[in-house]
Amino acid sequence: MLQIECPWCGRRDESEFSYAGEAHIVRPEDPFSLSDGQWAEYLFIRKNAMGLHQEQWCHSSGCRRYFNVQRDTVTYHISCVYKIGDEPPRDKNV
Ligand SMILES: [Zn+2]
Repeated sequence: MLQIECPWCGRRDESEFSYAGEAHIVRPEDPFSLSDGQWAEYLFIRKNAMGLHQEQWCHSSGCRRYFNVQRDTVTYHISCVYKIGDEPPRDKNV
């Protein structure tokens, strides 16, 4: 089982967390100015990376806070955990 380090609660089993999708997706400032295709891209198109990937997780059975995880999608190795609004540490970023 995957172990995830919650920034507030510490290391816990994966079963306490919920995956919440790709991190760093920014909502367009003026959604009404977008075409249907651009809006669909914002809503549905994700990287689906093979390798390092930044994603959001929620500690749903704990503090219920969201945070970001940088995880290798091939090995499941988590290289860092950081708070929403922060960038991944540079030395661990690709
Ligand atoms: Zn927590």
